[in-house]
Amino acid sequence: MHSFPGFAPWQSRAQVMPVSRLPLRVVAVGMALVAGFSAARASAYCRMTTQGEPQVGEARCVERGAPLVWKDPCLSYAIDYRGSVYMDYAEIEAAVDASFAAWRNVDCDARVVGSGNPPNVIFRPLQPSTCQRSEYNTTGNVNTIAFLDPWENPCRDEDDPPYEPLAFAVTIVWHNTTTGEILDADMMINDQLASRLNAGGPYDDCPDTGCPAGNPGALGPADLRSIVTHEAGHFIGIGHCSPEDPEDPNDPCVQATMFYRNERSSVDKRTLALDDINAVCDIYPPGDLDTSCDPTPMGGLLLNCETDADGNPLACDGPGAAPSNGGCSAYRTAGASSVPPWSTALIALLLWVMVARQRSRPRGV
Ligand SMILES: [Zn+2]
Repeated sequence: MHSFPGFAPWQSRAQVMPVSRLPLRVVAVGMALVAGFSAARASAYCRMTTQGEPQVGEARCVERGAPLVWKDPCLSYAIDYRGSVYMDYAEIEAAVDASFAAWRNVDCDARVVGSGNPPNVIFRPLQPSTCQRSEYNTTGNVNTIAFLDPWENPCRDEDDPPYEPLAFAVTIVWHNTTTGEILDADMMINDQLASRLNAGGPYDDCPDTGCPAGNPGALGPADLRSIVTHEAGHFIGIGHCSPEDPEDPNDPCVQATMFYRNERSSVDKRTLALDDINAVCDIYPPGDLDTSCDPTPMGGLLLNCETDADGNPLACDGPGAAPSNGGCSAYRTAGASSVPPWSTALIALLLWVMVARQRSRPRGV
């Protein structure tokens, strides 16, 4: 299902500058258990930008700077072959494919979910990756989707903050900080067992009626499609909308997939709301892309970011690699709220990291 032969060199981007000459930032966006927020601004979708501040929970959308966008939105992704301990690989593939497809299955003319005039963005699943790292390399890339247990960045430097314990997932969007062009996006999913101190599994592809409820001793599953559909919005450069009233179920932002908060048992975020549809149709207005387009990542496809052709381990900071994590936004958990115990919420974590230096140690040593 995920075989994809015939990768050609990236046609329009043969002149990829080395990382040392590219002004890069990484933006990470995550979801976690949160509670209690206040209104920030009028309901509307939010675009991630080159000059945004960390957007955590109620944090308002930042509109200055260049918006992040895929200049050639013929995109691919690959799920790490190790999958999750909670679901079979085939189930994960189906859930992830459906999640990305939700952003394409939109009629931009009628602004409704369904077939019609779709946004000009294509998502192509690839064969499994061997990559639990978020990297942008000049020597090849993969938009990897990896489940991590323990929930930590395997290439984290000592001075890097850890992944947020209460996040379900973090999507790291590599982009040019001058133009906002997205270069690579990696989705890391927290595969630890959820607890009061840690988000995470179990995950499932839940029924349309919702995930079965758990109890304080054994959490019910969270809906993987809801999580990945939300993260896929970040993958294409959409931030968290800001509601007029976060407690109003009729608020257009509260209804949106890109709202930061959600019940753990809910499957609502699988389905795009008008605010989400407006975002994807405005950012990627209908065009001429179809499934024959070339989704080769920037610099070529590199499905395995962990070992070389001889099976030798690749260093985290090999040539072309840039740090994947760094300055962390503050995280807020509100104790008092109207959110029921053991409910689940989504939070935005926008982590901005300047790539301060070129990593130059050779790989494989
Ligand atoms: Zn988010």
